[in-house]
Amino acid sequence: MTNDRGKAALERLRKIKPFIQASLSLTKKRCGNPRCRCAQKGLLHEVALLTWKEDNRTHTLYVPMELRQEVERWVQEGKLLKRLVAEVSQAQREFLTSKKRSRKSKNV
Ligand SMILES: [Zn+2]
Repeated sequence: MTNDRGKAALERLRKIKPFIQASLSLTKKRCGNPRCRCAQKGLLHEVALLTWKEDNRTHTLYVPMELRQEVERWVQEGKLLKRLVAEVSQAQREFLTSKKRSRKSKNV
């Protein structure tokens, strides 16, 4: 039981791809090797980090460069999922509100 708004959101939910609820950020770091170009010439390494909150703590996970774009897609899909969950919840509230209204009008 839902309305058109809920049906549209559920339809999109069925096509959801792998997702992750976290954010991806790029930063530059020294690797720690004193003979590396990062220490000698100041050419820092680009590092991709995934961060998320769990039990009120921020967690971080290193993302290999070759997986950067793939993980970015998971993050985008995670945001879409969050919007769709809110969308279906809103649709169900509207559905209940419309039932209440139509019942009232029938009783009058
Ligand atoms: Zn280095």
